[in-house]
Amino acid sequence: MITVITILGSSSLLVFLIWSWERFRYDYRRMVRDSNHPSPEGSGSLLPEWAQHHDWLRTHNIYYRALNLDNQARFLRRVMDFMRYKEFKYIDLSPDPMIPLLISSAAVQLTFGLNDFRLDFFDKIYVSGSAYRVHWHKQAFQGHVSLQGIYLSWDHFFHGYQEYDDGHNVGLHEMAHALTYGALMGKTTMEKSFRAKFKDYVKAAHPIYTNMRNGGESVLDRYAATNFHEFWAVSVEAFFEKPILLKTCEPVLYAAMCELLNQDPLELMTVKAV
Ligand SMILES: [Zn+2]
Repeated sequence: MITVITILGSSSLLVFLIWSWERFRYDYRRMVRDSNHPSPEGSGSLLPEWAQHHDWLRTHNIYYRALNLDNQARFLRRVMDFMRYKEFKYIDLSPDPMIPLLISSAAVQLTFGLNDFRLDFFDKIYVSGSAYRVHWHKQAFQGHVSLQGIYLSWDHFFHGYQEYDDGHNVGLHEMAHALTYGALMGKTTMEKSFRAKFKDYVKAAHPIYTNMRNGGESVLDRYAATNFHEFWAVSVEAFFEKPILLKTCEPVLYAAMCELLNQDPLELMTVKAV
């Protein structure tokens, strides 16, 4: 009995130490970044040296294409800042400057209405050429988020933006997990106002989630019924890729997401692509 208690006590201590170390790393990274690098916000036109990045985003990210020029400049500035603070690691894939740019653009798209857009909790993004295996799981993964970083299959990420109206976008899905992942690690890893609004999102989402768990139909993909974390990530995919359908069928949820993310994809859809 004493041995069992000792083992349980030791493992709890280990979990606590890992948690404390991760929190320390997070706080330190944020402190260094904030002291060395001013906010990239501000207005201004696109810089000439961004021409290639602008072309790639305009070609492959339909959300970016719909922004006006001022917002494209602001978006690109955020993408450059996001990339600077992330380390991209490639698995079975040749490095290509377009890869970090497009992956960073998925994060910036999700957080474009928020002040805190850098997903500071993570400093590494692992990109695999295609779907990959994780430990004992039988199914291959298209993406996932863990303490070690954000993981994505490049094939699936790229396809997600090529087919931008089917409600499946692994880039937005994993960035949605990454955005709320910090909430599990402590209060300071998520903006206070975001945490408050996330409670309103949970209130709006819960009846739909419960209905799906009981086998009910929804405009959201059935994967949303797996657990509430997946509901959140799937709802983000629908929010950006099927906003008319989501707003029509689930207006309360759609309004809560507009409030939470401080943006409305439907407003962008009225802007003519450049
Ligand atoms: Zn997921």
